[in-house]
Amino acid sequence: MPVLCLPPWNLTRTMKLNSSIAPDVMTCLGRCGFFEKLDGLLSPEDNSIPPQGCDGTYKLSESILIAGRFERAELDDIFAVLQSKVGFCDCEVLYNVAETSRLKANYWYARAAGQTALARHKPHSRPN
Ligand SMILES: [Zn+2]
Repeated sequence: MPVLCLPPWNLTRTMKLNSSIAPDVMTCLGRCGFFEKLDGLLSPEDNSIPPQGCDGTYKLSESILIAGRFERAELDDIFAVLQSKVGFCDCEVLYNVAETSRLKANYWYARAAGQTALARHKPHSRPN
């Protein structure tokens, strides 16, 4: 009996998949207004609306995407692409992945003004 020795094609495929789908995933996210909606939750334009906090997960992103009729399997692809761009949670998506966001602008506005009180999010573990 020959011993079956399967190459890790699955992992290779996943990695290839992420880099090849990334531009298209970003196009879809941009088209459905994902970043603006997330920005609107974490840093509302209207000051009378209390901003949502990032708890170190994709909780807000997930609710936006599900409301935008994305499938669960698509969400896995989307989060894999976001992670490849160092967006490991809701706020990091706006800080690191979105080209512009009010959250990022306000953060640096406050930093430039000498304020450091803006909490980005509760510490969370990440694979690195
Ligand atoms: Zn965060």
